[in-house]
Amino acid sequence: MCEGSTMYLILLGAPGAGKGTQAKMLVEELDMIQLSTGEMLREEVSKGTKNGKEAKQFMESGSLVPDQLIIAMLKERLLSIEKGVILDGFPRTRIQAEALDKMLGELRRSIDYVINISVADEKLVSRLSGRLVCRSCGGSFHKIFAVPQKDGFCDFCHGDLYQRADDQPESIKNRLSVYHHSTKPLIDFYQARGVLQEIDGDQDAMLIFSELKAILEGDK
Ligand code: AMP
Repeated sequence: MCEGSTMYLILLGAPGAGKGTQAKMLVEELDMIQLSTGEMLREEVSKGTKNGKEAKQFMESGSLVPDQLIIAMLKERLLSIEKGVILDGFPRTRIQAEALDKMLGELRRSIDYVINISVADEKLVSRLSGRLVCRSCGGSFHKIFAVPQKDGFCDFCHGDLYQRADDQPESIKNRLSVYHHSTKPLIDFYQARGVLQEIDGDQDAMLIFSELKAILEGDK
């Protein structure tokens, strides 16, 4: 296995596939940094920065924010990190994937693993429409499938739970269609490079996590 400290890993998958949950579990075990472009953007929006103001409308409607904005934002962070990185929610388009190659080229590196977590659309809709997210740590719960111990509060850090503005029916529909059109083709892009591995995302998060670790440890 690549040392966590030097590994570049992409978690691919539709919205609601569980990329963020798995990334957070990996960070707990390996000395790596999670870079979630969605979380970075939500922070920019809540701070009211220039990027946040530009991204807000795209995010609420479930569209992708423009490639130039997201690439510049990601690049600034990626090039300043000296540990291994889990990319969660990036790349989402072919243009972003090519830009990522260039960035890693500047570091004389390339992607070590791309893991696609696949889940059927019907499941994604029910996961997203009941999802509750922690305002403080980003932890994810569900009104029916992963009910928090104390109503409205995060089990991990006791932060407030809220329903994301884009976890509404119209926006979910758009996000899934954007995923199929713009992001799913990246599966073939990375498959052709021989770095892609697949995990069935329609199983318990702990089982997904053990498959993920088996891949990173070279056992699968
Ligand atoms: P996520 O938290 O990954 O579901 O992202 C939430 C929203 O942020 C997405 O629906 C997009 O509007 C935006 N976003 C996040 N990552 C990207 C990206 N790599 N490219 C374009 N838009 C993104």
